[in-house]
Amino acid sequence: MSVVPDVVKKYQGLGARVVLQKGAGVPAHFPDSVFPEVTFADSAVEVCEQADVVFCVQPPADDTIAAIKPGSLLLGLLQPWTSVERARQLAERQITAFALELLPRISRAQSMDALSSQGAVAGYECALIAADHSPKFFPMLTYAAGTIRPAKVLVIGCGVAGLQAIATARRIGAMVEAYDVRPETREQVESLGAKFVDTGVSAAGTGGYARELTDEEKAKQAERLAKAVAQCDALITTAAIPGKRAPRIITADMVARMKPGAVVVDMAAESGGNVEGTVAGEKVWVGDVLVIGPANIPSRMPVHASEMYAKNLFNFISPFIKDGALALDWDDEVMAGTCLTHAGELRHAGVKQVLG
Ligand code: NAD
Repeated sequence: MSVVPDVVKKYQGLGARVVLQKGAGVPAHFPDSVFPEVTFADSAVEVCEQADVVFCVQPPADDTIAAIKPGSLLLGLLQPWTSVERARQLAERQITAFALELLPRISRAQSMDALSSQGAVAGYECALIAADHSPKFFPMLTYAAGTIRPAKVLVIGCGVAGLQAIATARRIGAMVEAYDVRPETREQVESLGAKFVDTGVSAAGTGGYARELTDEEKAKQAERLAKAVAQCDALITTAAIPGKRAPRIITADMVARMKPGAVVVDMAAESGGNVEGTVAGEKVWVGDVLVIGPANIPSRMPVHASEMYAKNLFNFISPFIKDGALALDWDDEVMAGTCLTHAGELRHAGVKQVLG
């Protein structure tokens, strides 16, 4: 959900009128009745026909984009790398589209960072999914007839989501090991009480992100990771590279060598999967190992995911709303850096390069 009642009040405080699609908040437990003084429209298309700024969670359908007024703004997680047709349609319709995936990762933009807020939700959820599907306790348990050892959890990819998965698995009492190609994550992993798996492969890229590994680096990484994978009770993978398919880190052979009853949660399932054999939105048994590819993970915790997302959107756009009117500032590096399309053009150099 792109707005929640408190955030609606903030927009109204800036002099804006809020138009909401009827029932849009119901799946996130925000019924229409909790939004006072907003105008309701019957469909997303009708919202777009009235709005100067359109907020969305995922990219709108073609007919919805077609209903956005030329010159209007569209803001949301627009999956800019995935569709050249959509980018073209937005540009042709003269829509100024901001894709929050493109937000520069600088300190000033942290309060607008939807990838981080939704990543934190996803990491937390993946740890819970792993615990829920494991046939073992996560914490150490002492009972009348003995002691049960804590489960071993391995987290691969220690960005925002991975660190939250580590913290959550630790809170439930698991012993956690973790690995990332960015060397600076070692300290972050250790500060959460987990052990860093050292593969000797380091691949820091630009903008704080990882770069793609060479074939030689991939082989070295696989060799060193295989042992940790074989020994864990639950594997959670969250590795990603912006604009690219998720790196394939865990081979079918590595899954086949996991312990009977082990659980794999592949957070990257929707962008191709870190694990060979993952199917997005499905649970697949590979021998006696359960491989889960959860889809649209933030929707599993919609209240807080919506609250965080709505605040991210507000923090991005509110500096450019003055007395109920829009006043964009193209000298603002956060705003300019997040722009996908404007004035009939695909503006983002990185996306242009990927989409061709
Ligand atoms: P992401 O979702 O793009 O990737 C997840 C993790 O996967 C990353 O840590 C990446 O290094 C790792 N990864 C990629 N390829 C891998 C491989 N082959 N093997 C193992 N791990 C691999 O990352 P993210 O969570 O969006 O964050 C990326 C960076 O941005 C981090 O440095 C984070 O601290 C930084 N960040 C900065 C800000 C800010 O200052 N505003 C906000 C959020 C995140």
